[in-house]
Amino acid sequence: MTFNELGLSEKVLQAVEASGYTTPTPIQAQAIPYALAGRDVLGIAQTGTGKTAAFTLPMLSRLEQGRARARMPRTLILEPTRELAAQVEESFARYGVNHKINVALLIGGVSFGDQETKIMRGADVLIATPGRLLDFAERGKLLLTAIEILVIDEADRMLDMGFIPDIERICKLVPFTRQTLFFSATMPPEITRLTETFLHNPVRIEVARAASTATTITQGLVASAPGPAKRETLRRLLRGAADFKNAIIFCNRKRDVALLHKSLQKHGFNAGALHGDLDQRARTASLDAFKSGEVALLVCSDVAARGLDIPDVSHVFNFDLPTHAEDYVHRIGRTGRAGKSGVAISIITKADQKYLAEIEKLIARKIDWLSGEALSELTDEGEAEAPHHERGSRRGGSSRGERPRADADVPQKSRRREKSEPQRQHVEERPAPEPQPRAAAPSRERGRHHADDDAPVVGMGDHVPMFMLRPVKLKPGKTVAADEDESTSVG
Ligand code: AMP
Repeated sequence: MTFNELGLSEKVLQAVEASGYTTPTPIQAQAIPYALAGRDVLGIAQTGTGKTAAFTLPMLSRLEQGRARARMPRTLILEPTRELAAQVEESFARYGVNHKINVALLIGGVSFGDQETKIMRGADVLIATPGRLLDFAERGKLLLTAIEILVIDEADRMLDMGFIPDIERICKLVPFTRQTLFFSATMPPEITRLTETFLHNPVRIEVARAASTATTITQGLVASAPGPAKRETLRRLLRGAADFKNAIIFCNRKRDVALLHKSLQKHGFNAGALHGDLDQRARTASLDAFKSGEVALLVCSDVAARGLDIPDVSHVFNFDLPTHAEDYVHRIGRTGRAGKSGVAISIITKADQKYLAEIEKLIARKIDWLSGEALSELTDEGEAEAPHHERGSRRGGSSRGERPRADADVPQKSRRREKSEPQRQHVEERPAPEPQPRAAAPSRERGRHHADDDAPVVGMGDHVPMFMLRPVKLKPGKTVAADEDESTSVG
């Protein structure tokens, strides 16, 4: 099959040819003819399958007729994260070189002004994260009544991030008669319900299940104790990695991304970080530095890294094993892309065993244990201090992101921080939380969650209501703060 057989316009075909693609991927071959015919499409496909072009190319063809009016975009693409939205924008730039179309990006973390100007000019394509889009719509700066095509991408990730109520609201703001192209890597019940409500007689297209991992990826497991020992394990793996070019390192929570990033830098590694608490400029800078090879290591959270198309990643490390088995497949899929070989190594603590079992069940194979300590000999306890020989003992650089250490250059402030580190680690290195039920009670209140708010919230999260901080009266004359251990206070 060739692109010529799909019914795309001449301008689009020329752009596809210029980008060097000759054969449509399965999702493209199956979805494009229906999308061009105006049918709703339910595409079950993960990133890496070419699904972005599967909706971008037919949209471009269809946009050749007609013009956008001020504040009334003609098509809308919803993405869960800013990075994915920016990536789709790049796709339009690439495949739309022969078109005169206005593309506007509405994402959080950047100023409203420029975005508003673009919308006022009339956008043929609006690419947005749900929160910012609703902000604009509610302020009356944007009307969704002229939307001809609605694309909902990465729907299962939207679910994980609590965006489904927003998606439902947006679906009600766009005309009933629009065409909907809906993509999700998996189909949990909440997503099925959404498609049943908002898609009209869709064509269902399913390609490469989320459970499949590319055969080009060599997977391995390394046992480790948690805490500082785990960071030491990672450093050892980084130093010993064969055919190393660069690595994406995944943590389960934003705060752990920040902690590991700092720790790697402290140990002389040339690392960047990508997580939702960074402002947009920092996120873009980290990503660009990694893509250009300026930094060899990128420490990430799932949400920040989801779907990012970074070619040529030699290694993926799961510093934390993901608690959702499907995330494992997505994470390791960052390497071994486009037929290249890649290595994915996961560090496993005792507490990870049940998650490992779920992953092996999903991918229907056992992952090999690599050299290292036996899991059965490890404790579950994090050590309070890094092993003595590791502390500040490394010097010299290497190609794997390690920089020569210059301890003398460490500013006083950082040194002070190092001193207080053990205590902070005690707070931050709790064992991984129990997996949260997907989309558990997503907040209806926009502004509470963000496209990048990826840390699973345990209990009340960081928020402690005032009533819990009030002293509690135990016995006449004796009080204890609510967060103190009662047994020690009461005696
Ligand atoms: P996606 O799944 O949309 O993130 O695409 C994954 C990667 O596949 C991107 O780098 C695309 O540029 C690339 N790609 C998309 N379509 C094709 C194609 N027909 N042939 C080869 N590569 C493609």
